[in-house]
Amino acid sequence: MFHKILIANRGEIALRVLRAAKELGIQTVAVHSTADADAMHVRLADESVCIGPPPSRDSYLNIHQILAACEITGADAIHPGYGFLSENAKFADILAAHNITFIGPSADHIRIMGDKITAKKTVKDLGIPVVPGSDGAVTDDKEAKRIAADIGYPVLIKASAGGGGRGMKVARSEADLSEALSTARAEAGAAFGDDAVYIEKYLEKPRHIEIQVMGDGAGKAIHLGERDCSLQRRHQKVWEEANSPALNVEQRAQIGATVSKAIADLGYSGAGTIEFLYENGEFYFIEMNTRLQVEHPVTEAITGIDLVHEQIRVASGGGLSARQEDVRFEGHAIECRINAEDPRTFTPSPGKISHFHTPGGLGIRVDSGVYSGYRIPPYYDSLIGKLIVHGRNRVECMMRLRRALDEFVVDGIKTTLPLFQDLVGNPDIANGDYDIHWLENYLAKGG
Ligand code: ADP
Repeated sequence: MFHKILIANRGEIALRVLRAAKELGIQTVAVHSTADADAMHVRLADESVCIGPPPSRDSYLNIHQILAACEITGADAIHPGYGFLSENAKFADILAAHNITFIGPSADHIRIMGDKITAKKTVKDLGIPVVPGSDGAVTDDKEAKRIAADIGYPVLIKASAGGGGRGMKVARSEADLSEALSTARAEAGAAFGDDAVYIEKYLEKPRHIEIQVMGDGAGKAIHLGERDCSLQRRHQKVWEEANSPALNVEQRAQIGATVSKAIADLGYSGAGTIEFLYENGEFYFIEMNTRLQVEHPVTEAITGIDLVHEQIRVASGGGLSARQEDVRFEGHAIECRINAEDPRTFTPSPGKISHFHTPGGLGIRVDSGVYSGYRIPPYYDSLIGKLIVHGRNRVECMMRLRRALDEFVVDGIKTTLPLFQDLVGNPDIANGDYDIHWLENYLAKGG
């Protein structure tokens, strides 16, 4: 087992990793920018190192500074959290060269899944269903027309290097195609320095359903069921739940088995998520995330498995703690991402939190790095906490969520708590009847 883990992140996820390491009796090192000197993860860590000024590229993305912090403190492993360096294959390579364990998959697997065309081809060959589309990058418009006519309009042009929904364009007919291709290429080139694009069938009303997997890196893998993350705004997840209200036990077992076999065959190590669009009973792969995800606690709530313990265990060579037949899905869990934003306009609302009171009681979990008197710096994302609620079934979970939201107090800044208070009382949400466009349509109507 590791002696000391350096946590290369900030905010709630740094605290989340710190808690897991403490439980396992492992020493922790926090790194932070000058803007985060008074952050909770810095206060609670055994040691802390300042790694630079506020901008992420000079601190949380600065590989040299993070390596230096490892060497000064003698940390033997790094947990990257999510975002920042968590899906940076070069970082994983550099750590390997310095004999520091990266708590995550191999650099090769990060690289494969980081390029969407390669990822899609790889998972397709492993038996995972993908969205019908071009076999690889499309370079000439004639070929694009032929492929689009083959799969049928509407089609979606996507950037191979894409992320955050950028570089995507819908073409509803052949007349739109050339322009969609050139705009997508230009956007992808400008945003990612790689203008390769590919074509997919555009699904009109899908749900976003993702499967959590854990591999041991030696040919064994398990799945921990799905999360439904269809409630999104600008491709950012807002509300996530497990299980999905749209799947039954057989569908879960079937897609789970397909995915865990593929991940085992790939020899994948650690935690990963296979994201699908789901429409009319069919799954269509969109991407794989090779890291722990923001919404992992809903999976923890229904399985009782601590995903960060599991990541640390696998990275230290201890293998998986559970076999597939040991995994049970109990009850229902919902996560609300609470952002320091105006609940109507979503403009960021940094500043000082004058009072912070979190709900409690059976089935309630709050993962947050903030506290009363904390000043939210303006340099990073606006997530200030996650409320995760568990109940024996979805109805009980929603009742408990409504009560927990009423108890939650964040004074001094604006937050998205009122949005969740509206959503929890909405009949479509109560019925689990929503797709990936539901939230944007709801907000466009004024809520
Ligand atoms: P990114 O890495 O940019 O987030 P994804 O491939 O995950 O790219 O796609 C982002 C979002 O775009 C998805 O969550 C979904 O809302 C939408 N999307 C992607 N592919 C399709 C498709 N074939 N049909 C309809 N919507 C899609």
